[in-house]
Amino acid sequence: MSSTDKPTNFLQNIISEDVQSGKTKQLVTRFPPEPNGYLHIGHAKSICLNFGLAQEFGGTCNLRFDDTNPEKESQEYVDAIQKDIAWLGFEWNGEAKFASNYFGQLFEWAQHLVREGKAYVCELSAEESREYRGDFTRPGKNSPYRDRPAEESLDLLDKMKDGELAEGSASLRAKIDMSSGNMNLRDPVLYRIRHVSHHNTGDTWKIYPTYDFAHGQEDSIEGVTHSICTLEFQDHKPLYEWLLESMPVPSQPRQYEFARLNLNYTITSKRKLKALVDSGVVDGWDDPRMPTIAGLRRRGYTAKAIRRLCDMAGVTRSDSVVDLGMLEFAIRDELDKNAPRSMCVLRPLKLVLTNYPEDKTEVMTGPYHPQRDDMGFREMPFSRELWIEQEDFREEANKKFKRLVIGKRVRLRNAYIIEADAAVKDAAGNITEVHARIIENTVGNDPEDGIRAKGVIHWVDAPSAVSCAINLFDRLFTHESPGSGDEDFMEQLNPDSLVELKGCYSEASLAKAEIGKGFQFERQGYFTRDSRSEDLVFNQTIGLRDSQGKFNS
Ligand code: ATP
Ligand code: MG
Repeated sequence: MSSTDKPTNFLQNIISEDVQSGKTKQLVTRFPPEPNGYLHIGHAKSICLNFGLAQEFGGTCNLRFDDTNPEKESQEYVDAIQKDIAWLGFEWNGEAKFASNYFGQLFEWAQHLVREGKAYVCELSAEESREYRGDFTRPGKNSPYRDRPAEESLDLLDKMKDGELAEGSASLRAKIDMSSGNMNLRDPVLYRIRHVSHHNTGDTWKIYPTYDFAHGQEDSIEGVTHSICTLEFQDHKPLYEWLLESMPVPSQPRQYEFARLNLNYTITSKRKLKALVDSGVVDGWDDPRMPTIAGLRRRGYTAKAIRRLCDMAGVTRSDSVVDLGMLEFAIRDELDKNAPRSMCVLRPLKLVLTNYPEDKTEVMTGPYHPQRDDMGFREMPFSRELWIEQEDFREEANKKFKRLVIGKRVRLRNAYIIEADAAVKDAAGNITEVHARIIENTVGNDPEDGIRAKGVIHWVDAPSAVSCAINLFDRLFTHESPGSGDEDFMEQLNPDSLVELKGCYSEASLAKAEIGKGFQFERQGYFTRDSRSEDLVFNQTIGLRDSQGKFNS
């Protein structure tokens, strides 16, 4: 048990032992995103883990961009990733680091491997390489270039670097074991030729290191002690260790793997998320329906709720799928406790109080939060014409409908009890207005005649209301596991994932709603102001209750 008395995970245990035995003087971890897309909720787990362990053990965590695939990377992604990590509440050690800063050192180490007889330049074509590689049932065959003299490989490596060889015509490979049961050890490629510009190094390099050649060496240069990655890298570990042992690297980091975070109804693959963005299915990486950190933020999720999900999901070594309801629970619970309440009418219907003077305005007061006196009270103007929700009125209804019905009473939240008299209709028979009367002396009191109201509805004062637009969201996918099996995730999109409402009315104070702050619109859910729109637009963060009913607090 740690000092907080929470159960510890296997990584905390390993590090704790390493610290106690003196093997680890100071913990150094790293978070190594590739800048080829925005961070998503799965990355948040790795971030919370790496930065969290560093905090817990008084160590440091580096942010290192694994920018070894120039075609897919960009400065936009570098900037977005830094913004998101900082927003999640974590601070990396010193400046952000880049794999590309180490390209010179990596190249020297590659030459070292060649001189030691541990790497060679191979000129098999892609097709031949596949053939020579074998598969899980067949061992591979040695490349005919495997035993060429080191001098020849060094010369070719220089030519590769200087752009004298065409893409695909040669690669640098480690000389390990073509019959290994671990495919990663069958003379893996260390450098490939790419005649493309890099977002950081421009046109300096015509060759780029593979993930395997770069990762462990970068860890070593940075003095990373515990290099934590997801389970799919388990089979790469022997290569990670082989490379570190074969080169004069400054330190010996160790790799540890944990299970990635999977959420149902959610895609956590940058490639697929990018396809959604590129096809225009969503409005950018920060579309509020996206499981990206930027999307969740725009939707009104808080860093705290995201960290809480990562905490609840735990750190294990077996793959599992977490219910999206758990993330929804985390934000709903937080907003329930902290979000100021206000009123907003989504689909407005005019209510005219026929016995209320035309020139009169009262000021009603209501608590910002029903259980939080510390949050104080808000004031709401009240006058003859109000907006109520269309669905809160019916001409006739049975007893189950505890809202406004002709001849019946309802309480207006924080204001009077009213009784409806008539519905005004247009030529097509649509209800355009409801006429009702206030029952005197019922603000904060029951009616003197003893006829109580059955329900409470929300409202907004018409003259002072501000007009706004509201985006309602539902899950982006209808399928629990989008894209699984032979299915195309693009075919599993929920056509109703976005409902845009215009001409909604909110309390006047919401005109100044701060971006990043969550509000409860009473009886409707939790909302936050959209950060991209110039007009007043609110995004629905989450409904008031879990529709699946699994995660109610
Ligand atoms: P890709 O390599 O397909 O572009 P990736 O998801 O591996 O995508 P990286 O930028 O390489 O993206 O990830 C950075 C770090 O985040 C890695 O250490 C990776 O293991 C971790 N990570 C990525 N997805 C998840 C996830 N779903 N759960 C936990 N950690 C994750
Ligand atoms: Mg990756």
